Amino acid sequence: MTEAEPIPDMIVAGGTLLTSDPELPYLEKGWIIISGGRIIGIQDCAPDKLHPSTQVIDASGHVVTPGFVNVHTHAILSMVRGVAEDMGFAPAYTIGVPHGHDPTPDEAYAMAQLGGLEALCFGTTTINDTYCHQDVALPAMAETGIRAFGCGRIHDVDFTRVHLGEWSYDPKIGEQTLADAAELIANFHDPEGLRTGVVLAPHAPDTCTPDLLRQVRQLRDEYGLRINTHVSQSRVEVDFIRERDGMSPPELLEEVGLLDERLIGAHCIHVSETDIARLGRAGAHLAHIAKGNQTHGQIAPTHALCGAGMNLALSTDNMHADMVELMRWALASGRLQQGKITDAWQPAKVFEAATMGGARAMGLDAEIGSLTVGKRADLVLFDFRRPHLRPLTHVLGTLVHTGQGRDVDIVIVNGKIVVSGGNPLWVDKMAVLEAAETAAAALWIRARAEQLAHS
Ligand SMILES: [Zn+2]
Repeated sequence: MTEAEPIPDMIVAGGTLLTSDPELPYLEKGWIIISGGRIIGIQDCAPDKLHPSTQVIDASGHVVTPGFVNVHTHAILSMVRGVAEDMGFAPAYTIGVPHGHDPTPDEAYAMAQLGGLEALCFGTTTINDTYCHQDVALPAMAETGIRAFGCGRIHDVDFTRVHLGEWSYDPKIGEQTLADAAELIANFHDPEGLRTGVVLAPHAPDTCTPDLLRQVRQLRDEYGLRINTHVSQSRVEVDFIRERDGMSPPELLEEVGLLDERLIGAHCIHVSETDIARLGRAGAHLAHIAKGNQTHGQIAPTHALCGAGMNLALSTDNMHADMVELMRWALASGRLQQGKITDAWQPAKVFEAATMGGARAMGLDAEIGSLTVGKRADLVLFDFRRPHLRPLTHVLGTLVHTGQGRDVDIVIVNGKIVVSGGNPLWVDKMAVLEAAETAAAALWIRARAEQLAHS
């Protein structure tokens, strides 16, 4: 090492690298050199000399990947875990479950921290989250060590009525949710540090009027932000927009100037051939909710959407934040649409989607998403010294087909260890679990009381 080079803060030594960088996708044994929160070197042998202040992480027996990027989540919706999966429709549209207008700030904090912690411990280092009270949810998630991006739901529908089947719009609600987003930008948008950030989140075409969507576009352009919204999630939404605006949801997004390479579209299930072509032509990003949608018996036409030109990124939507499991669901659903195993749907495609595809969707592909010299040091160390992860004949195939989020041993974000031995270092895991349990119990008591009142 020459004197001109910085002294490494950390070396991750001797792991098997899956980099998600096409220049060097695989290294059987690699050393990752980290300084100032960035990767400054990747090499196939140990450095000649070690500075005494450099922390060495022994990665032998481990597989090292970039941190996963989960592009569309609702961490607070961990409050409906174990229930929403078996209901006919999204929680926002259903009576008798806790809704976005229900949590107090303290409850939102507790549930958001649970969701963020779950994601981080399973190897997600960047999350893009949308729900309520994001002024407390973003810091709650960031305190775990994860990069927390997001926005409160922007809408002008009266959400206290939607689950009762009423879509009534109030411009004052739109003004308030836009003002909340502007405040979030002022307090949390940090394009330099990337510890927290804002991706504007108009909730969905049917919960926003075209006028509000145009105002969102203005705010987006003012700050150079991305957009994260639900698109063609349900037949109800598609039929509603057809009746209200005389067009499909993707057409509406195009009409209001939001359909372009800055759009992260979640779901994209009920899309026509012209919608698919429109979304692809725009270069929009698909937040493919591979597990959540199939759990509800539905599937986005991923093969056609990718073929049309959409960038494939993965997301868990309501929390169950195991990105390894999610890769498996995405691979299987891609193959189901073709009815066979093809070159188009191989482990490399879904690994790319979980890492670089997500980074690209977030507009952060120059900074995160791969193990590349110069990028931020966001790394995941999977402990492969386990029966279900041997032999190491094809490491990526084994990770995608039999790996699990709970095989994660160490997570490094921005060059700092935030998970070790599968446990968080920045927050007290048991305290997070207990606070979330208390919050969820209170929310469900209130939701059931509301249901009784309407029965
Ligand atoms: Zn969603």
